[in-house]
Amino acid sequence: MITVCFVELDGDEVVDASLRAVTFARRLGGGAPLGCLVLDRPGPGALAQLAAFGVADVRHLDAGDVHGYAPMAAAAALAEMVAPFDDGVDVVAVVAAATDHGNEVLAHLGATTGLELVANCVDAQVQAEVEPGGPGNGGGFAVVRQRWAGSLLEDAVLHARGGLFSVVAEAVTAEPSPVAAEVTVRPIAPALTPLDLAVQAVETRSEGGGVSLASARVVVSGGRGIGGAEGFGVVEELATLLGGAVGVSRAVTSAGWRPHREQVGQTGTRVAPHLYVACGISGAIQHLAGCQGATHMVAINTDPDAPIMARADYAIVGDVSVVLPALVDALRHRTAGS
Ligand SMILES: Cc1cc2nc3c(=O)[nH]c(=O)nc-3n(C[C@H](O)[C@H](O)[C@H](O)COP(=O)(O)OP(=O)(O)OC[C@H]3O[C@@H](n4cnc5c(N)ncnc54)[C@H](O)[C@@H]3O)c2cc1C
Repeated sequence: MITVCFVELDGDEVVDASLRAVTFARRLGGGAPLGCLVLDRPGPGALAQLAAFGVADVRHLDAGDVHGYAPMAAAAALAEMVAPFDDGVDVVAVVAAATDHGNEVLAHLGATTGLELVANCVDAQVQAEVEPGGPGNGGGFAVVRQRWAGSLLEDAVLHARGGLFSVVAEAVTAEPSPVAAEVTVRPIAPALTPLDLAVQAVETRSEGGGVSLASARVVVSGGRGIGGAEGFGVVEELATLLGGAVGVSRAVTSAGWRPHREQVGQTGTRVAPHLYVACGISGAIQHLAGCQGATHMVAINTDPDAPIMARADYAIVGDVSVVLPALVDALRHRTAGS
């Protein structure tokens, strides 16, 4: 079986969602050698993580002057990595985290190779023989995946010898391999047309103290209950004191109080931090779709019956304009005293 992962990096670290996707791929591959594609040559920290998670064959995209995100070029490289599949004798699985980048790259790969994309998987198993004599003869995949923003789990069978799987971060715990891999690192330079480079990141800027929302260990999110753009000063302060990133609900981005890149949810970023603090957020299903992977959740809301309060580990019934400054004060005192 050929098992390949699309892995996202944040500096010299593999992002947490990709480590979870690698864990998923390793289990799906059942001991098959694991390869991965990264967009830029990984540093020693990322390589050590990949080795610990059992990735032996690391390929980094060599697309001329292009550095960073170029989804169609990445898909072309992945297509080349799984090309032995074309000889019809092997089963192939390409796995990525169900992030914006992961889903987009797999969608391009599906479009160019004809391999089916199963998005938002929580589990997948290889089935030896799905349908004797049918299209799945000799291989198939039993999958469980999220539908309807995570409110429904679907059991499905992919009748094919190859598939593309994007993995919901909270469904899998990142676990190193029992046996670390000996890593080889090689560039991969797929044949590209100008169209393959039509979409590419030309600049990456880090705002808000440099902590990326997608990989932050703490996220402090504000919703409509914050009351306006000016109310986010205290949200930012709390996020900074906790070493985290600011997130928001769609009500906030729709009102133009904060930019869309900070939106958490079904149509925003999916986060899986250790701590998620939801301030003045009701907890609509589309918002929870983006933060249900949080290990711990604190909600601050004036309405004890808001849906987020039932999901939270700690529910503080109160006004954010009172609770947030009190929290910030307490944390400042603690920091000053230590
Ligand atoms: C297709 C689709 C996709 C969507 N995608 C997303 C998405 O990605 N992310 C997302 O967030 N939403 C998304 N939504 C919108 C979602 O349905 C909700 O409308 C949105 O999440 C509500 O944002 P909110 O909780 O900030 O606002 P509200 O629902 O208005 O809730 C405000 C909360 O603040 C509380 N509150 C008010 N004043 C205070 C105060 N002073 N102190 C404390 N609490 C207070 C209220 O009790 C209330 O619970 C999507 C909707 C659709 C249809």
